[in-house]
Formats: sequence, C-alpha cells, structure tokens
Amino acid sequence: MHKIDMDLIEMTMDVMKYTIDRISSTQHKIGKPKKAKELKALVGDTITPKGVGGEYAFKMWKKHLAKANVPIDHPRHLAFVPASPTRAAIMFDLITSASSIHGAYWMEGAGGIFCENEAMEWIVSLTGLPKGAFGVFTSGGTAANLSAIVTAREYWRSLNEQNKVEKGLVITSVGAHSSIKAMAKVADVDILLVDTEDVMYGTALQETINNLTAHQRRRLFAIVATGGTTNAGIIDDLDGIASVCDTENLWFHVDAAYGGGALVADSVRPLFKGVERADSITIDPHKWMFSPYDCGAVIYKEPELAKQAHSQQGSYLDIFKDDGAHGFNPTDYQIQLTRRVRGLPLWFSLATHGTDRYKEAVERGLELAQIAGAIIENMPHVELVRAPSLSCVLYRRIGWKPEDYTHWTYENHKKGFALVTPTKWKTGETFETVSRFCFINPDTTEGDVKAILNSMKPISKYSD
Ligand SMILES: *Cc1c(COP(=O)(O)O)cnc(C)c1O
Repeated sequence: MHKIDMDLIEMTMDVMKYTIDRISSTQHKIGKPKKAKELKALVGDTITPKGVGGEYAFKMWKKHLAKANVPIDHPRHLAFVPASPTRAAIMFDLITSASSIHGAYWMEGAGGIFCENEAMEWIVSLTGLPKGAFGVFTSGGTAANLSAIVTAREYWRSLNEQNKVEKGLVITSVGAHSSIKAMAKVADVDILLVDTEDVMYGTALQETINNLTAHQRRRLFAIVATGGTTNAGIIDDLDGIASVCDTENLWFHVDAAYGGGALVADSVRPLFKGVERADSITIDPHKWMFSPYDCGAVIYKEPELAKQAHSQQGSYLDIFKDDGAHGFNPTDYQIQLTRRVRGLPLWFSLATHGTDRYKEAVERGLELAQIAGAIIENMPHVELVRAPSLSCVLYRRIGWKPEDYTHWTYENHKKGFALVTPTKWKTGETFETVSRFCFINPDTTEGDVKAILNSMKPISKYSD
C-alpha cells in the first residue's frame, strides 16, 4: 500500500481510539481556559505553508488544547445549561460527519432528512400541536427563535399594506432569554418587556397591551413566552397567554429551548398547558434531549407560513424543486441554506434507547433539583432563594458577597472539581448575586451535590 494511505489509516485509527476513550470515559477532567498567548506559546505555529502534520497537530491537541476546554457533560458541571449527549448520539455525530450529507434539500439528503423527520415527529408529538404541525432542526435556540420571529413578522406583513411599512413590535418578559432581544435586533423588530423575571401571566400581558399607544398596538405582531426560563426554570402562563394571543390576534411563540425536553416528563408536563396552542415553538435537543452540539429545533403550527418566509429562490436552486426531488426541504423552514443533518445523531439515539429512556433521564434531572433543594434546606450555611423549578435551583450561601461567589467558582474550577457559576436574582428592586444549579446529566449524583455544597462551608480555624 502507498505510504500516504498507510499514514491516513494510522491517523484514522488514532483519532478513533481517542474518540472511543473519550466516549467511554466517565472521569474526563474539567479543563481550564488559558490566554490565547499562552496557548500559542505552548503549541507554536500550526498553520504553515507545508503543514505541521496530523501527528504533531493531534499531539498538540491532546497535550495542550483539549485541556483548555471544560467538558459540558461533566457530572459536576452544573453551570449555564449543561449538556449530556448520549454515547449513541455521539457515535452518530461521527457518522453524520463521515457521510458528507447536504441537509438542505431532500434531493441530496433524503436518507438523513428522513431520519431527522422521524425524530422531529416525536418532538412535535410532545408539544400536542395539532395535525399538520412540523419542524426542522437548526443550529440552536437562537437560530430557531430568529426563524420563528421572521416567520411571524412575514405573516403579519402579508395581512395588509400598512403592516408592510411598519416596524414590528414583540412583547416578551424580562425572564426571556437574551437571544430573543438579540434576534429582535437582527430582524429589526422592537421589543417590549413585561417587567417580571417570574411567571409572565396572561393578565399582566393583557394589561401591557392595553397600555400601548395606538401606534404601538398596530405594530405589535407577536408574543414570546418562555417554557422554562434559562436562569430559573420558570414556565410562563402559556394557556393564559395563548388566550390573549387569540383575542388580540397575535402570533404566539414559545421559547422552550431549555425547558422543552421536560415535555416528555409526566411529572411536569401539566405546567406546559397551553403550549399546544402556540404558533411556533423553540426546543433545543442539545440542551435536554441529550444531543451533541449543535442541535436546536423550531416547530410551526402551520409550516407553510415558515416556507413563505424562508424558502430561498435562485436559478441554481430550481433543480431541487423538480419532480424527482419531491420531499421535505429543511432549508425552506429556517434561516440556513447549507446545513448539517444535525438531527441525525438524535434519531440514532432515540432509535437505540427508545423514548422511555428519555423520559427517565429527564425525570432524573428534575429529581436531582428536588434532592438538591432538600439538601440545601437541611444545611445551615445555605438556603433556597426560591423553590426549585424544572431542573434549576437558585440558592444563597448565607453571608456571602458577590465576590465570594466568584472566588468560590474559580477555586472549584481551578481544582478541576466542579463548575458552578453565580447568577443574579431580583428580589424587590435589588439584584442579588446567588448560586445556581442546572441539572441535565442523569449521572450527576447526590454525593456530587453534597460535595459542592460542602465546599461552601465556612472553614473552621481548628481544622487543618
Ligand atoms: C439556551 C437558550 C436559548 C439559546 O439557544 P442556543 O442553542 O444557545 O442558541 C434560547 N432560549 C432559551 C430559553 C434558552 O435557554
């Protein structure tokens, strides 16, 4: 065999071995960031006219660069919204890469898109949306929210001539995710916030609408409710908000990027009542459906409206609309053209494990939040800020100032012990710095939670 081919095979084996080790490891370390300058000093120039060679580059990756990452699936990574992709999903993420599938059009990606759609049907079934509702996988919740906002605005503009020249307005709450505000900017839409980080009720929304000026009211086209706030796991009054949207003739979008996974859990499903009345929903499988990054999803009650907003035209694209290519074209329903079949890993994982396992794994995250809440209530040095909601737990270390939380976070991170970051919670008029757990990984144990809370204990003068 030619020398080059031998090298290639050896390299492939090395990469596969590394991947197998990583997938099967339960002890992967919490890495730490380094400054770009420090990393550069460690690895030197890697992009050169002749190349440094795969072996060397891989060595640098293992020795220095991999260690500068925090694995999001570590059982004591409870910051932000962690993730915990299944091994089956990770394996098929490799296959997705190796298969070079263009996931925009059925003509090229029918097999992959078929699998994505099987997984999507299950997700749609969890929402309770009426027949005909369907969705598409996106790069994440941000892209899903943007796709939904643009669809809603396009529909509103199609209603009359006046709307075509007005700048649109969206109402959401203070508790909404930052991407709603950011994507409103991208779509050049104004945003108005109902002043609550707690549950946004239909009544408060109605009051806000009643207080709009006549011009603002004409510009209002959509409401964004949150199905599990990122900070605290709070679910808005979806049913009440749906009724307001009905009466006021507004598009109802539910951002359940984080919380959407909990639709599968019987213990909390009733809290989402009203989600089945949404016009569009965002759910991130890369958050609580155990998919690798990146995998979001946007679902529409009437997918045809999304198609009117997002279908791209171009003479070079006409071929995809020909007879032989008939089928579902994911590009038509969101902002991206060329796309990875990013729902494929989820499909394989669901097919492998069955949906019951997903139910159990999500219920475990919810249970961990309750367990953590009970432990906190029994420890004198910490207390709950509010009852755990979904898998989020906000708690305070009695007597700590904001800098104590920051210091503690860095210490635990530096030791490679845990990553738990502070957040802020508004009590009355003041923002208090508190600590926060978000549970996703079903392998996190009660012992992990206790050990993290114990690391907040005052250090006794007499202990060593
Ligand atoms: C995480 C999150 C988003 C953003 O999703 P990305 O996948 O990070 O783009 C949007 N909304 C909510 C409620 C989220 O929790």
